[in-house]
Amino acid sequence: EIVDVELHKEELQSYFNGIGFQRWSAIYGQKEVSSIRKTVRDGHAQMMAQAESWLMSHNLPKGATILDAGCGTGLFSIAIAKRGFNVTAIDIAAQMVEQAKVDAKREGVADRINFNVGDLESISGSFDAVVCFDVLIHYPAKGFKQMCSKMAKMSKGPFIFTYAPYNSMLAFKMWIGEFFPKNDRRMNLQMMKDDTVNESLRMGGKKLNQQAKIHHGFYHAALIEAIPTR
Ligand code: SAM
Repeated sequence: EIVDVELHKEELQSYFNGIGFQRWSAIYGQKEVSSIRKTVRDGHAQMMAQAESWLMSHNLPKGATILDAGCGTGLFSIAIAKRGFNVTAIDIAAQMVEQAKVDAKREGVADRINFNVGDLESISGSFDAVVCFDVLIHYPAKGFKQMCSKMAKMSKGPFIFTYAPYNSMLAFKMWIGEFFPKNDRRMNLQMMKDDTVNESLRMGGKKLNQQAKIHHGFYHAALIEAIPTR
């Protein structure tokens, strides 16, 4: 089992440092992309706007610490650093982190973001909020509960994240076809049952507070905000 996860990790890392970096950084960038990818860009932007408004509704003080797990090119890290939060941004792919650093510098918030290259397993500590967007969809199904509950525990406040809902199989098949190498089965996206997600949250001392299902062209995600049980 451990070997499985290790193998998966290596593949994820090489994907997100290679072709995956090119594809996703284009989607998360501003240059023109195909109309299919534009729907993913816009859906993702909708998701982030919703997540940011949920996060802001907690009235966390300036300087509050936020973990952005699997930060990618840092779109969310940069947005919330601009709000005055102290962000820890971590991603398994060095190329993603490099891009995030360049963008954060350009946006004048690099000093409020602590960048790290590493996988989800390597993260520890306690934060005022934890976010994790479009990352758990790549996580091995066997380890999902453990990882989801670990991230829930690391937050003293809200834990906001996305997962791929189980029931949009067809939509996801299309998405996989567009974004992942056809011959690489391990790159399949992991779909989770709502029950599995809720149980993970319970294990992490959290409960569901609000959720939004975002469907926009080729972008499909369940966005969840969990909060401490007590
Ligand atoms: N969260 C960012 C956003 O929404 O803009 C990026 C999302 S992108 C689809 C997924 C990111 O998760 C990639 O940058 C990838 O390198 C990272 N990732 C995937 N699996 C990971 C893992 N096990 N540990 C750390 N990062 C991971």
